[in-house]
Formats: sequence, structure tokens, C-alpha cells
Amino acid sequence: MSQQEQIGLCRLCMQKRELRNSHIFPKFIYKDFVSDLNAGGQFVSLEEGRKTNKQIKRFWYCEECEQRFGNAENSAKKMLAAVTRSEPVWYGNRLLPFCVSVTLRCLEYEFRKKSFPKRGPLCDARRTWREYLLGRRSSPAPRSQHAFLIVDDKEMYKGAGTVTSQDEGLILCQVGPLYIAGIFDKRLLTSNDIRIWDQSRVDPNGGTLRPVREWRVGTEVTSDFARLLAIHEREACMRVLDQTRANTRRKARSPNRSSM
Ligand SMILES: [Zn+2]
Repeated sequence: MSQQEQIGLCRLCMQKRELRNSHIFPKFIYKDFVSDLNAGGQFVSLEEGRKTNKQIKRFWYCEECEQRFGNAENSAKKMLAAVTRSEPVWYGNRLLPFCVSVTLRCLEYEFRKKSFPKRGPLCDARRTWREYLLGRRSSPAPRSQHAFLIVDDKEMYKGAGTVTSQDEGLILCQVGPLYIAGIFDKRLLTSNDIRIWDQSRVDPNGGTLRPVREWRVGTEVTSDFARLLAIHEREACMRVLDQTRANTRRKARSPNRSSM
């Protein structure tokens, strides 16, 4: 067995297998958005709070389950490469499994925190998302996945990270310009919240995402989600650069991914 493998329980199929050293945030996100390739792939790390090029990986998944993530990742990579500041982007039926796979991995990552419960809605959601990715259920309902595209002046789109609010039944995951919200406990939402969330729900058959110009709280995003976004931008996002360099780069070129 190579150093890149060890035996253990795969966190998706729950079988005892050889495990791969798997990325929590998809590998392409680092190269395409988070890492400063001119500085040896460095970024400001969530885990270490300083610049590093150590991507977050864990021996969590078997080869077969890694491939389950991979199919949806390839189409997400293509979609995100086409994002611009103003044009809507079409997505197909692989965005939902991609969003679920990112949410599930981020949730596992959040479970490292001692404050996370060993049972309850978060654990139920983890089971639902696993079963959906394994093809044992056709939909992740009653959990839902919501997507937002961000290409902003502050260059937050060059980030990745995750934050969970158990009080609001929400997990936010960012992978570059794609912000994914996973609702794991709908009982905490008001009927007005549900109306707002319905606008950003990821359609299992495909649909269109429009870049968000501003977060319109109360009409397009709920106040709970806005609060989580603020925490994420302040504390839970690994970033490519400091602001000064980001501004210099922004002036130098357009935000169209295909030019990067
Ligand atoms: Zn597996």
C-alpha cells in the first residue's frame, strides 16, 4: 500500500476499504480560484490562519466513492470556468450531485468540531446526502440545495470555505464563485423564508444561474443566510491573496474566468 492509502471505513459507502487521501474542497477549486499560482500555489489557509499551499485532505473515501464525486466535479469545473460578471450560466443535471457532494464533505469537515452533535438533524441530513450520492434515493429531499454565483469586486470568488449554523439549519459552502447553501432542517424556516429559498433551489434537471450583484436580504436571501454569509466572509474562507494585491490584479484584467 502506498503512503497515499490506508484501510478504514469509507465515509460515503461505509464499507471497509482502502482509502484515498481525498480533497474536501475539490482539487480544481484550488488551481482555478483559490491558489496564487505565481506564488507556488499559496493561499491563506482556514486551518492554519496563514499562507500555505497545503490543501485540505483527509483519508475519508475509497477510490470508487472518489469517482462518484469526480463525474459531477468535471461538469462543475466547466461551468465555473465560463462564469463572467454579467452573463447567466446554464447548468445541467450534474449540478445537484455536485452541490450535495461538496455539502457532504464540508459537513464531515465541520464534524471535527466538538460542539457538533452525534445525533439530530445534521446527522439525518448526512445520511440523506450519502444515500442520494450512492443512488439509493432519487432526491435529497426534504433537504434542499441552493446555489448562487458570485463574481464580486472584493474578489471573494477566489475563495473556498464552509460554515454551519445549527440554529438556522443551514450549511454554507463556497467553492470559488459558487456559493452552495444546504438546508438540513426545514422546520426552522418560516413560510416567508421558504418562498425566498425557492428562488435559488438547484433544479435536479438543470437550469440557469445569474451572477449575484448584491445580496438582497428579505427578497432573494433570508436574513439568517445573510448573517451566515457575513461570518463566512470574516472567518471561514480561505483566500488567495491579501486585499492590496487582489485590487492590483483586479485592475489588470477582467473577471472572466477563461482569461485566467
Ligand atoms: Zn466508498
